[in-house]
Amino acid sequence: MKYEAVIGLEVHAQLLTGSKLFCGCSTKFGSDPNTQVCPVCLGMPGVLPVLNRKAVEFAVKMALAVNCRINPRSIFARKNYFYPDLPKGYQISQYSEPLAEHGHLDIDADGTKKIGITRIHMEEDAGKLLHGEGPEDENFSFVDPNRTGVPLIEIVSEPEMRSSDEAQAYLRAMRDILVYLEICSGNMEEGSFRCDANVSVRPVGAEKLGTKAELKNMNSFKFVKEAIDYEIQRQIDVVEGGGKVVQETRLFDASKGVTASMRSKEEAHDYRYFPEPDLLPLMVENELVEKLRGALPELPRQKRERFISEYGIPSYDAGVLTSSKGLADYYESVVKATNEPKVSSNWVMGEVLRLLKEDSRDVKDCPVTPQSLAGLIKSVKDGVVSGTGAKEVFEEMYRTGKSASEIIKAKGLVQISNEDELSKVIAEIIKANPENLERYKAGKTQLMGFFVGEAMKATKGKANPQVINKLLKEKLG
Ligand SMILES: [Zn+2]
Repeated sequence: MKYEAVIGLEVHAQLLTGSKLFCGCSTKFGSDPNTQVCPVCLGMPGVLPVLNRKAVEFAVKMALAVNCRINPRSIFARKNYFYPDLPKGYQISQYSEPLAEHGHLDIDADGTKKIGITRIHMEEDAGKLLHGEGPEDENFSFVDPNRTGVPLIEIVSEPEMRSSDEAQAYLRAMRDILVYLEICSGNMEEGSFRCDANVSVRPVGAEKLGTKAELKNMNSFKFVKEAIDYEIQRQIDVVEGGGKVVQETRLFDASKGVTASMRSKEEAHDYRYFPEPDLLPLMVENELVEKLRGALPELPRQKRERFISEYGIPSYDAGVLTSSKGLADYYESVVKATNEPKVSSNWVMGEVLRLLKEDSRDVKDCPVTPQSLAGLIKSVKDGVVSGTGAKEVFEEMYRTGKSASEIIKAKGLVQISNEDELSKVIAEIIKANPENLERYKAGKTQLMGFFVGEAMKATKGKANPQVINKLLKEKLG
């Protein structure tokens, strides 16, 4: 029997606000434990939460970017559970009346596929548990509530993905949008962008969903794919072996490439949700929604499509160049100055990205400005420097911050394009090789390469090959 996988994703994105969701504590990552806490986020008795307006605006932006309907009235709810990193014993979340619903996201999967987004709701993060590993503290665990109360949005998809590739495409698209909106760092290692996957299998053609397992602990795109692939096969094996898949939460073990049962999955009623009595309903006015909608930037997918149609570059190039907003802006500035879309694309995707990657630098810190790169591209076009020489010049520009013309001069890389000068060189070469000239004239035209080579040698590689070719053709007939 053939099976198909049914995959739904829950994404938790940490919002890039300066302060937490219900108090004024900083959200900065990586500070010393327990330094960004106050009575509110530590859940002391008698304190009251105050909602962070910026977090609401960020959440609304994301909801609009993925075509959700914003509910004018939503409700915060208490999700009750005990965990050592949750000082209050409950998490303030949203449940039956979330901020936004009924959205969709287009992903690339054998063409374009529309994945439904069930809901987006706001909630606070829990703290962090650190388990001792050294000989002195291996029997201890430590609680760091710095992250407690940091604002999150949870984005829940419909179970409409059918493969790990589709799940990956969905996550990438989702993260790109969050980063473009500048509301989330998208950093999976730091936990700013997390994902749980609900995976089940069913016979192809069946309507009824199989029992699902929830996968956790996948902190890279690669692990998401590995975990889902493993889980699909595991469930097929269970069913084929006559067994039953049980509803449970499973943790991905990256070192072994397997998922393992962590606990039986809680049902919603286990959390005893009820409306948060310390917070009023969240009313989002239409005026604010429309203001935020009007201010949405061009999103990655739109930008990619525009690059293809406006600049006529291949879809692959457009994908790479729009992988971050900063890179896309850099590229567009280069094109504006050169009016050479494909040549500019080759430079940005090639030399620029290569050197940035070597230094693990962001494009916004690139020492070569788009204008300087455009100057270099123009120098190649004008025959001032050869294509190969230009790469050397670029690297030097990157390392020293000097201009292209300065380096071309200093390194003696100026290309010789002057016809009079090159005619003299050619005349000497022909004079020095009478035998080859005879053979060429007798029909051995592939000797053209020999003469070009000699001319390049004589000029130490500085001759403009196009001019050399042209002059040789004239001279040799
Ligand atoms: Zn606080």
